[in-house]
Amino acid sequence: MTTHPDELAGLTGLFTDEEHQIAASVRALCASEVEPHIGRWFEDGELDDPRGLMRSLGSLGVLGMHLDGYGCGGMSATAYGVACLELEACDSGLRSMVSVQGSLAMFAIWRWASEEEKQRWLPGMATGEMVGCFGLTEPDHGSDPAHMRTRARRDGGDWIIDGRKMWITNGSLADVAVIWAQTDEGIRGFAVPTSTPGFTANTIKHKMSLRASVTSELVLDGVRVPDSATFPEVRGLRGPLSCLSEARYGIVWGAMGSARTAIECAQRYAVEREQFGRPIGGFQLTQQKLADMSLEYVKGVLLAVHLGRLKDATGLRPEQVSLGKLNNVREAIEICRTARTILGANGISLEYPVMRHANNLESVLTYEGTVEMHTLILGQKLTGQDAFR
Ligand SMILES: Cc1cc2nc3c(=O)[nH]c(=O)nc-3n(C[C@H](O)[C@H](O)[C@H](O)COP(=O)(O)OP(=O)(O)OC[C@H]3O[C@@H](n4cnc5c(N)ncnc54)[C@H](O)[C@@H]3O)c2cc1C
Repeated sequence: MTTHPDELAGLTGLFTDEEHQIAASVRALCASEVEPHIGRWFEDGELDDPRGLMRSLGSLGVLGMHLDGYGCGGMSATAYGVACLELEACDSGLRSMVSVQGSLAMFAIWRWASEEEKQRWLPGMATGEMVGCFGLTEPDHGSDPAHMRTRARRDGGDWIIDGRKMWITNGSLADVAVIWAQTDEGIRGFAVPTSTPGFTANTIKHKMSLRASVTSELVLDGVRVPDSATFPEVRGLRGPLSCLSEARYGIVWGAMGSARTAIECAQRYAVEREQFGRPIGGFQLTQQKLADMSLEYVKGVLLAVHLGRLKDATGLRPEQVSLGKLNNVREAIEICRTARTILGANGISLEYPVMRHANNLESVLTYEGTVEMHTLILGQKLTGQDAFR
């Protein structure tokens, strides 16, 4: 008989009944609408009906579920984290779809847009009828967005935006793009309807990671928006960084979902697969791998729970989010890679979820601040010395 790492460590006792219910309902949606197709979507690099899936996620209540008002769920940060873990246990692309909609696009509008814009976008985004994306990264500026080239200039009562954004999740699906641009007043945010003349989204092909997720290049060529589309109060990187903190927090949990799936798969395989006349799980080297993977998974979930409860109680500082993102993604990718070795040649097949998760985590390791950026954030806090430049 095998024991699940959650049970081994008594992790289930950490969650409330409501949190367990949220986990169960997300798991049920994944089992019915995503898991039967995810291998094919990943292989094809295309989802059957991404907007339909967004609506299903809206019906489930996970889009902007940690925000208040405007049709959003008003749930706790921990509850949102639990949902992220279950979504990413299915596929990082699914969790990315929800993170970008809820934590980046909706959060940006909820936190920074005018009341009129909130009313315009948020209720439809919460149901999944409307899709949002978040355009910060550019072809030449990723880790260092302060030097972005996209520019917005005033023209009478309007603004004209010119520039390019790259690697934008949900970009080709979106009805509204949150665009960050240089202005004479510093970096400012805009909620840009994607139907505006001059706005184009091109889907990026040939990805080897997050293949079941839409990633796009956005081109803004003389895009004219009214002053009401700007985020009135925020200037500088404080705006986008506040949104990134929200999305990074979801990743702290999500990465452990990928890890859990890889461990479950390797554990099953280790007891079923026989070599040299016995299950490979009977060999000490395999047991060491499973023990080490489970240890890191349990530690990662404990860190996520700690950060979730802290966020609900007092809020999180950016470096606390960095701590969780850095550790949990780094450990999750190691767990997936080790699980892959337990599966031998089958580990590289899409018949099993492990390599898909490992490949997806390559993106998760890079987006929302690379491993190096989060290491530098922690290093800066630990030493008081800035090593970014
Ligand atoms: C699938 C996917 C989806 C994405 N979705 C979005 C999205 O929705 N919206 C969005 O705005 N962006 C998105 N991104 C972009 C992502 O946030 C960037 O890729 C990321 O910030 C890194 O930027 P870069 O790729 O330009 O790498 P670079 O910044 O060029 O970095 C390259 C390497 O240099 C290292 N490096 C850079 N500076 C330093 C330094 N000072 N010290 C040490 N090392 C350094 C980096 O850590 C990295 O290892 C997405 C990316 C991917 C892959």
